[in-house]
Parts: sequence; structure tokens; C-alpha cells
Amino acid sequence: MNYELIPKELRPIAEKVEAQQRISEADALALYRANDLNALGMIASVVREQKNGNYATYIHNRYINYSNICILSCQFCAFAAKKRDAHAFEYAIDEIIQVVRDALCLGVTEVHMVGGLHPTLKKEWYLELLQRLRALNPNLHIKAFTAIEVRHLAQRIFRMPIRDTLETLRTAGLGSITGGGAEIFDPAVRDKICRGKETAAEWLDVHRTWHSMGGRSTCTMLYGHIETLPQRVDHLRQLRGLQDETDGFTGFVPFAFEPSQSHGILAQVKRASAFEQLRN
Ligand code: SF4
Repeated sequence: MNYELIPKELRPIAEKVEAQQRISEADALALYRANDLNALGMIASVVREQKNGNYATYIHNRYINYSNICILSCQFCAFAAKKRDAHAFEYAIDEIIQVVRDALCLGVTEVHMVGGLHPTLKKEWYLELLQRLRALNPNLHIKAFTAIEVRHLAQRIFRMPIRDTLETLRTAGLGSITGGGAEIFDPAVRDKICRGKETAAEWLDVHRTWHSMGGRSTCTMLYGHIETLPQRVDHLRQLRGLQDETDGFTGFVPFAFEPSQSHGILAQVKRASAFEQLRN
């Protein structure tokens, strides 16, 4: 790393990163507060090269929302609908199978499928969907359901413990679970943007359970709304803690909050700038 291009105050952090040492929460905050995007990029690139060499990989993936009907009403969510709403939708299994069949013809290797917390779809519906997707192509990777969907299925639909629910889904064809629903772990923020949703501990517990079964998943952070920088750092610290414990996350996906349809406490939030998105 060319340290002359790194501002003096960030050099001790850059040295730690290059030496593959852990950065502290104070270091993470300093990086968030730094305005030198080139320096941040250089430091980040060191980590990327340490992990992956000079390779960047990608997945040919088909994203599917099987339904937007949801029993919750997270304040930040412009996706969910109640059954009576005009924009509510729910695809039939045959429709989803056709979409994936078409995608397979285009070379897609993974389907990524999530939905709302649907109040009435039955256990048999979810299992038939997974089994028929699996039957389409045994090599298709089926990545589906957020931790909150898994908890919803376990508690209200399957009426089974989380582990048994995950095992049942895996037997039907589930390959990995998705990272959505994490938002920002801080309870005060969750109470304002997604009241009633699972807690951080509950989100982490679903992933911990899945990882302990040999499963892999991704993790996310929804930023650029009412959270503070220390709350982002706290979120990252908790994700890193679980990764230390299980090594089960295959990727981290930071999502910028999309404010175009926001209301209430989020009405005044501005879209995260390109600078902010690159910094995350
Ligand atoms: S649980 Fe998911 S789909 Fe339902 S309201 Fe919250 S963010 Fe939207």
C-alpha cells in the first residue's frame, strides 16, 4: 500500500489492515468519518486481495418475490401489502416454476427467493415449491427466505422449532438462506423503522442455527435512514462476532435505504449519495 496516499490519521488503521490485525470499533468509526474515498478504497482493496487475490466472482441468479403479502407493516417497507390492497400479489407455484425454467435456459445457476410473512400459505405450499424447483435441475442452488421468514414459518406455519423447520426446508431443496431482515440491529432504531420484527438476537440465532447445521448464508445492513454511525459499527460488530463463531456467512450486502415512498419518521430521509454508497 502506498502510505503517502493515505491521510495521516488513517495510517495506523491501514497498517493494522495490511498486517491482518483486527480493527477496533473506534477505527471503524474513524473510517466512516473519513472523507478520502481513494484512501478508503485502497485500504478496502488490501482486504479484498488478502481474501480473494485478483479475482472477482459473480453469480447468474434469478431473483423472485413469490408474494408481497405480509402480516407486518415495517415503517421503512414499500414492498409489503395486505391481502385487500390493490398492489398485493401472490404467484402460483406453476408460475414460479415457469420463470425459473426460463431462467435456467439463460444459464442461471441460482434462484434467490423471498417474500413477505404470508398469513395463509400452507407448509405444503412451501415444500412443494422447493421440491419442484429442485426437480427442475439438481444443480440449481436454491437460496431462499430471510431469517424473519424462517421464524414466521417455524412459529406460525410449520409449528416446529427453528432447527426442525430449517431441516425440513433443506430436505425439500433449500440450499442456503438469505441475509435480509437484519436492517440495523440497534433496538431503538428497530422500534422506529420495523416495530414488531425479530430482534437482533433472534436474527442472529436463525443464522447461527443454520450455520451449525453446515448451512451457509449471507448477511446485510440497511443503512442511510435514521441510524447513526456508531449504530452501523455496532451492527457490523455483531455480524463479525457471528462470523468469528461459525464462519458461515459467504457475503455481506449493504443496502442503501430507498426513500422514494417513505413516510412518517422516514419522510425527510434523503437517498444515500454515491459517495456514501461507495463508503459502505
Ligand atoms: S417483514 Fe419484510 S415484507 Fe413484511 S413489512 Fe417488514 S420488511 Fe416488508
